[in-house]
Amino acid sequence: MFADLHLHTQFSDGTYTPEELAMHGKRHGLTAMALTDHDTVEGCRGMSEACAALGIEFIPGSELTAEAGGTELHLLGYFLDTNHPALLEQVGIFQTVRQDRIHGIVARLNELNIPLRAETVFKIANCRSPGRPHVGRALVQERYCRTMEEAFDRFLKKDKPAWVPKFKISAYDAIALIHQAGGLAVMAHPGLNRTDSIIPSLVEAGLDGIECFHSKHPRRTAEHYLGIAAQHKLLVTGGSDCHGLNKGKPLIGSVKLPYHYVTTLKEKVAMKNGTLPRA
Ligand code: AMP
Ligand code: ZN
Ligand code: FE
Ligand code: FE
Repeated sequence: MFADLHLHTQFSDGTYTPEELAMHGKRHGLTAMALTDHDTVEGCRGMSEACAALGIEFIPGSELTAEAGGTELHLLGYFLDTNHPALLEQVGIFQTVRQDRIHGIVARLNELNIPLRAETVFKIANCRSPGRPHVGRALVQERYCRTMEEAFDRFLKKDKPAWVPKFKISAYDAIALIHQAGGLAVMAHPGLNRTDSIIPSLVEAGLDGIECFHSKHPRRTAEHYLGIAAQHKLLVTGGSDCHGLNKGKPLIGSVKLPYHYVTTLKEKVAMKNGTLPRA
């Protein structure tokens, strides 16, 4: 029995619908899946239904954009109450600033004589939580770039001419918010951020777990973070971070987390909330 606890859909910058994602999960033999779209929980209802129809256990989640010590990091929330007022208020703020950022990026592109329209990006995104990949897809669709890679390399990467800084909340506030919404807070893909020095302060703030297994973590990186998890008594999670066809080959199936890690997560959330975990 295996799980994938890091997945994106069209409700942020993934390309699959919840139904398509659940179907791919089934094909790869997953018993449990978590949806972790960026700064939203909007897709969780559809994903819950799609998973139920295929007999897959579903864990409602989100990937919150945060920062600590001046570095961006992503915090995964699991077993979230997706109707929690404080969570909904915060994701509403995230979504407004993400939409403002699209206008900002498009304005930069226009200054560079790329006459892309924000409406084109929003039409492609068709969600409340748009991001740079949607701008990339619009640049390719309108033939200003040949590939997504070119769009990022020429315009969208940090410090490239159409880069606009991203809104982040404090990692400590993100952990508190996830807890308020009944969830477990997990540091996403630590190997991509190289922010080991802040882990003790996150643990102090109540961090529950760390994503040791990730499609971009080589084996030695996973082992390094398994060591850190043991040292701080953190839960261990893992996921592919599949974005569908966004970045070439779909990554679903590339990380298969043994199910006993999910059992441990459920025990912790049940203990913390004094209830049985939501399925
Ligand atoms: P944003 O949330 O707007 O900052 O966009 C972040 C998303 O852009 C993440 O899903 C990244 O994986 C994706 N991304 C970052 N760099 C690239 C790249 N070079 N090509 C394609 N996607 C990228
Ligand atoms: Zn993404
Ligand atoms: Fe991330
Ligand atoms: Fe992600």
